[in-house]
Amino acid sequence: MLIDNHDRVINYVRLAVTDRCNLRCNYCMPEEGIAFSRKDDLLRIDEMKRLCNILVARGVDKIRITGGEPFVRKDLMDLLEHLATLETLKEVSITTNATLIGPHINRLEALGINSVNVSLDAIRPDSFARITRRDQFHTVYENLMRLIDSKMEVRINFIVLDGQNVDDVYHMMEFQEQYPVRVRFLEEMPFNGGSRDFVKLKWNHRAILEHIRQRYPEFEKQPAPLTSTSVNYKIPGHQGSFGIIPSFTRTFCGSCNRLRVTATGDLITCLYGKPVANLRSPLRFAHDDAIVEDLLVQAVGSRAKDGFEAQERFGSIFGSSMTSIGG
Ligand code: SAM
Ligand code: SF4
Repeated sequence: MLIDNHDRVINYVRLAVTDRCNLRCNYCMPEEGIAFSRKDDLLRIDEMKRLCNILVARGVDKIRITGGEPFVRKDLMDLLEHLATLETLKEVSITTNATLIGPHINRLEALGINSVNVSLDAIRPDSFARITRRDQFHTVYENLMRLIDSKMEVRINFIVLDGQNVDDVYHMMEFQEQYPVRVRFLEEMPFNGGSRDFVKLKWNHRAILEHIRQRYPEFEKQPAPLTSTSVNYKIPGHQGSFGIIPSFTRTFCGSCNRLRVTATGDLITCLYGKPVANLRSPLRFAHDDAIVEDLLVQAVGSRAKDGFEAQERFGSIFGSSMTSIGG
């Protein structure tokens, strides 16, 4: 079992399988000029499988696959096939922009993938194209509808971006009224790789909830596990539900149960901190799993209490891109 220096059990790992992406969301990365990692520096699928085996043996029971866009990796399904065989791994989930998932949906369902988070910050083609800088709305929408029809739980991540998609918030609320999805509205964070200035956050969790309340005054708070990052609500009669994630104001840090591993093998113990170790060389060259385990135990044993402490300890990490961190 991995237990941190604040007595928190670490049972959740977010694994970024690539830093590449086929979209260019303006809150995540610049349109061009982003320095992607050398291909050889990315973890190979066998190295990821080995890492997941080690983590699961240490009590991790939830793995989220993220990126970059996970499905730009041609060998992703090989990893997912492997994860499906790990008996004590209770939950495998994926965060995706849903542009490339289409051909894999049936297999993902058959493998028992538990949930898919679709990042969709606009429910209209023109705002989608402006934000993602690509014209892929119809593909995403079609794949989203197929995912909703599948056995997998579907959530939509929608970042509220001042001046860009505030009008889409009510459209998204109408969407969750009709379909059994949870839409999670997120605060924007300053991880855009220098794409644009991050000024004071206008759409914080209170402002988002207030905006929703003006159109939908009647919602009920839903119970959520202690480790949940979202505060969830349901409107009577609606098929779906909605939640708000205070990703920038960070009110959920106290119960954090997660580790992040980037596509190059960096181990991150807090989203607001810098990597504390790199696992690629031991995974590639060392035969003894104990070397990787020691790095994990050391990292977990000196975690910051929360995102504010991590930020203080590491200095500013703002300006890096979420495509390398994985969200
Ligand atoms: N490409 C996939 C996707 O978009 O779902 C997975 C990787 S993406 C980096 C993971 C999550 O990070 C997405 O839900 C995305 O919305 C979120 N994200 C990216 N940049 C962000 C930012 N500056 N602030 C808040 N969330 C961000
Ligand atoms: Fe790509 Fe996801 Fe970043 Fe958008 S948020 S550019 S889809 S990695």
